[in-house]
Amino acid sequence: MNPVVKPSALVVSPAAAASAQASASAHMASQNDQFLLRQPTREEAEAAVRTLILWAGDDPSREGLLDTPKRVTKAFKEFYKGYDEDAHDILDRVFEEVDGYSDIVLVRDIPFYSHCEHHLVPFVGKSHIAYYPSKGVVGLSKLARVVDTYARRMQTQETMTAQIANVIDEVLQPRGVAVLIEAEHMCMSMRGVQKHGSSTITTQYRGVFEKEPAEQVKFFTMVKSPSLRMAL
Ligand SMILES: [Zn+2]
Repeated sequence: MNPVVKPSALVVSPAAAASAQASASAHMASQNDQFLLRQPTREEAEAAVRTLILWAGDDPSREGLLDTPKRVTKAFKEFYKGYDEDAHDILDRVFEEVDGYSDIVLVRDIPFYSHCEHHLVPFVGKSHIAYYPSKGVVGLSKLARVVDTYARRMQTQETMTAQIANVIDEVLQPRGVAVLIEAEHMCMSMRGVQKHGSSTITTQYRGVFEKEPAEQVKFFTMVKSPSLRMAL
């Protein structure tokens, strides 16, 4: 038998270990359990890629594919580097000297690249984040880094939207947070229903955005308004 390593059994962060272990022990008791206790080695990961190449129907020993397992495992570290980052730490520095600025702060069109956790196929899109500062504002690039941290994991768009709203809510304790993500899912375009060009929109609201529909309208209007860049 080929030494098939199930992706679901791979643990890439200590934080994920507890939940992975719980669900894994409920569903499987096999040789894969060893990877819940330790990271697979690079050689083991490369062997898993070779198995998937065979599964797809090609020959991993032909010239063009010889170095593919090495490249894929390296790319995985890039695609999923969010497991090594904590979004709470990214937001820990708050600027309080903003002369009492407390109105809405909106950062829109933050691009991201993620992978759906069901098929490990990309979904790509933009996120828009607004908040009403209470104890201070955060550097604008930090919001983009928060998006990146969650995007570079195995994700669903819904989970990612909630995680971004939650971490901003927890760390900045603003009067309100709104997050809107729009994305195209390659697993819909490339397989299954093959609906090319459809996009999915998810939203999460906390604080005043949750309580007051007018705030949601304001947020949505600002996200969709034409860019002012040409007028400046
Ligand atoms: Zn998918």
